Amino acid sequence: MSNCYLLKLDLCQVQQSASENSFIGGVPKLPDGAEIPRCKFCGAEECFFFQVAFPNGAVWGGLSLAVFACTSCADETRLIPQMLPGPLSDADVPVGFLESYQTNFRFIIFQTALATLCTKYREKVKFKPFQTRSTDDPDINETKIGGSPNWLQVDEGPRLCGGAGPMLFLLQLLEGFRFEITEHAPRQIELGLDGSPQTSPLNYYQLFNGNRIFLFGTEGLAQPLVYVITQVD
Ligand SMILES: [Zn+2]
Repeated sequence: MSNCYLLKLDLCQVQQSASENSFIGGVPKLPDGAEIPRCKFCGAEECFFFQVAFPNGAVWGGLSLAVFACTSCADETRLIPQMLPGPLSDADVPVGFLESYQTNFRFIIFQTALATLCTKYREKVKFKPFQTRSTDDPDINETKIGGSPNWLQVDEGPRLCGGAGPMLFLLQLLEGFRFEITEHAPRQIELGLDGSPQTSPLNYYQLFNGNRIFLFGTEGLAQPLVYVITQVD
């Protein structure tokens, strides 16, 4: 069991600086040369949602993960990331799957120390920093790094990646998480009741349909990869 850290949004600080490494919105902090991903369905630039620096002592200590997703197109087959065929619990996830399923979303993984503010990105989600605080309770039902996942349904955690290394629980984001948007950001494209895409009336974005999000990471691969599962009550 890895150490567990709570991720709490600091609602007082609204100004982004170069010193924060875990935050939602604002502009991403990425290594030089990293490109803002584009949606493989509609071609639009994907929205930067959040990034987390894993503390030393956590799984992936010293690494950061930035999460992007398209807010410009919607289709009922891709509101949440594609799932593996067959049973999910204890699955052995192929490396190729973890690369190819990143279509309208993208995970960028890098050394935290090498990242700089990506000033060419136009902010869409309002910046709010995460405070990372160690906790003794690995089962705490919060947005957190490490510890144990709090499943809403059956345990769908994977076990291995490509038959080689284990898959490690990285973090969970509670359901209904609101990524408040800036005044000038376009509204999210969502599915209307008739199943066709429409513009959301909401002043926030939702990631993966607002489901509870569980992220797992590979261990021992030269280029780490992320596996995502979402659940609803
Ligand atoms: Zn798209």
